[in-house]
Amino acid sequence: MSGYELDCVFCHIATGDHPAEILYQDDQVVAFKDINPQAPWHILIIPREHMDSLNDAAAQDEAVLRHMLRVASKVANQVGIAEEGYRVVINTGPRAGQSVFHLHLHLLGGRPLRWPPG
Ligand code: AMP
Ligand code: ZN
Repeated sequence: MSGYELDCVFCHIATGDHPAEILYQDDQVVAFKDINPQAPWHILIIPREHMDSLNDAAAQDEAVLRHMLRVASKVANQVGIAEEGYRVVINTGPRAGQSVFHLHLHLLGGRPLRWPPG
């Protein structure tokens, strides 16, 4: 599934129709603060194009997936957590607790992060 979904809040954030604290954006992705942060820094990085989850990523999406990771490291550097360390997570499907069905990468940092996650 690709494009724009009318009832998707992250599609609305990408178009500027829903408020968000945006930290970085370009023609492919938007990075904004999570509304319910689980760490001092909790940032979401989304593709502008709607995809329900990582399960829907196809060969043609490889460039944007690669770019999301590069942007994660760029934003981590921008907010000052690159050296101390951070984590990137993509929850996929019900068992992983995915609650918003527009693909997003979590960037978490600013505190020690335990392993394994819950
Ligand atoms: P997940 O559980 O992996 O699907 O993560 C969804 C994340 O989106 C959660 O951490 C929510 O707090 C966050 N979230 C939901 N709605 C918004 C919103 N309008 N703005 C920012 N973050 C949001
Ligand atoms: Zn969407």
